[in-house]
Amino acid sequence: MTQFSDLGLAKPLLKALADKGYTQPTPIQEKAIPIVMSGKDLLGIAQTGTGKTAAFALPILHRLAEDKKQAPRRGFRALVLSPTRELATQIADNFKAYGAHLGLTVATIYGGVKYGPQMKALAAGVDVVVATPGRLMDHLGEKSAHLNGVEIFVLDEADQMLDLGFVVPIRKIASQLPKERQNLFFSATMPGEIGKLAGELLKDPAQVSITPQATTVERIQQSLIFVEAQRKRPLLAEVLSNFDVERSIVFTRTKRGADRVAKYLTASGIESASIHGDKTQGQRERALAAFKAGEVKALVATDIAARGIDVNDISHVINYELPNVPEAYVHRIGRTARKGKDGVAISFCSDDERSLLKDIEKATRQRIPSFDRRNDKSLAAAAAVADKLAPAEKRVDPRKADPRNDVPSELRRQRNRNRNRNGGGQGKNGGGRQGGQGKGQNQVQGQGQNQGKAGGGDFRGPKRAAGPAEKRWSPID
Ligand code: AMP
Repeated sequence: MTQFSDLGLAKPLLKALADKGYTQPTPIQEKAIPIVMSGKDLLGIAQTGTGKTAAFALPILHRLAEDKKQAPRRGFRALVLSPTRELATQIADNFKAYGAHLGLTVATIYGGVKYGPQMKALAAGVDVVVATPGRLMDHLGEKSAHLNGVEIFVLDEADQMLDLGFVVPIRKIASQLPKERQNLFFSATMPGEIGKLAGELLKDPAQVSITPQATTVERIQQSLIFVEAQRKRPLLAEVLSNFDVERSIVFTRTKRGADRVAKYLTASGIESASIHGDKTQGQRERALAAFKAGEVKALVATDIAARGIDVNDISHVINYELPNVPEAYVHRIGRTARKGKDGVAISFCSDDERSLLKDIEKATRQRIPSFDRRNDKSLAAAAAVADKLAPAEKRVDPRKADPRNDVPSELRRQRNRNRNRNGGGQGKNGGGRQGGQGKGQNQVQGQGQNQGKAGGGDFRGPKRAAGPAEKRWSPID
């Protein structure tokens, strides 16, 4: 069996890996690390949970440390683009942990928090920046950041970027990168448009595929329960009360749905918390910490919010509502059965979700074993009580639910206002980014340098001249 020590990684990296107790690379790490170390472009098809973050973080740190030099002012040597702030934080934490003995700097750049500390962190130049596309575009527009010094560019979770409408900003960012650079591109699935983007960004890439397209992990025991939509809540309480449910993620389609389900569970005596795009950074962090600590048995989440959740030991994934994109089903259930453990995925399917189920079974080329709990008297009685405990959710037509619904409402409203006012996407002054957004804390953490300097230098968002309609994109991260 290959050991990390066989891969030729710098000693300080091996020490950091030993500190974490990792000795053997995962399959994607074993394949990707030598390729990235050699400087080649890479196309990686892998889900979260496969160890893909270390698969790019380790060789990037190795390359930066091998050729140590000061990053240009307001610039960075490695840029990682991530679809969500949670994932960006996690990736940066990985870089910090693996780079602990290298003395390199790492910073995160994402929306929903103050600009000032981010500008300060970038000012002197940083070795690795992990950013969401929207906020990075703002910094580029403000000239508080530039991409001239980027030697390695990573696009992570590309398929999720597509779902979030980030393809235009990504192309814009890529157009400002130096021509001479190394590109790494990761995606769990490879729909046509993502393949096209990969073709534009990558030069003669080596390909590493860990999870074949849209197939589900074998160690996950999947099942499906047919149930009336209004009886899903008591069914959920019943499933979660089962003694073998240790830690579960419950997926809902909408943010309001997540809140309502969590409220109902708590009212039913099941410790739960919700996490989605409308929660402040502090609220998300508290919910995640309680979940990791085992104080919360069920974390109710929307797809996008769940994307960045890196919690091992999730025993159950419950699809309270089926996703309207089949690939999301694969992502969701992949939150369980990590690190060689088994996992259980239970999906609830109401009549109006039958076509979604069909799509999922077609895409995953399987039939999910099902049980029929429709017309179940005990659930009917429990549903009547449930309505008294917490108001029932408003039904949303599953076909009409937009995967972008997880965009924080304020930004979405602002985007729509701009669109209505200008007849098509043209916004002024950075749209919903300004005002009322000073709630996040400590979003920038230059390793060993800028930590804890979030105070001062508040900046209420860049002033931008309105450009032609087609040049504007919607700020949604
Ligand atoms: P990722 O796919 O990057 O989200 O990683 C999934 C989880 O596996 C994270 O908790 C990592 O810290 C962990 N991990 C990554 N590489 C290894 C390894 N070689 N051995 C054991 N655990 C790992």
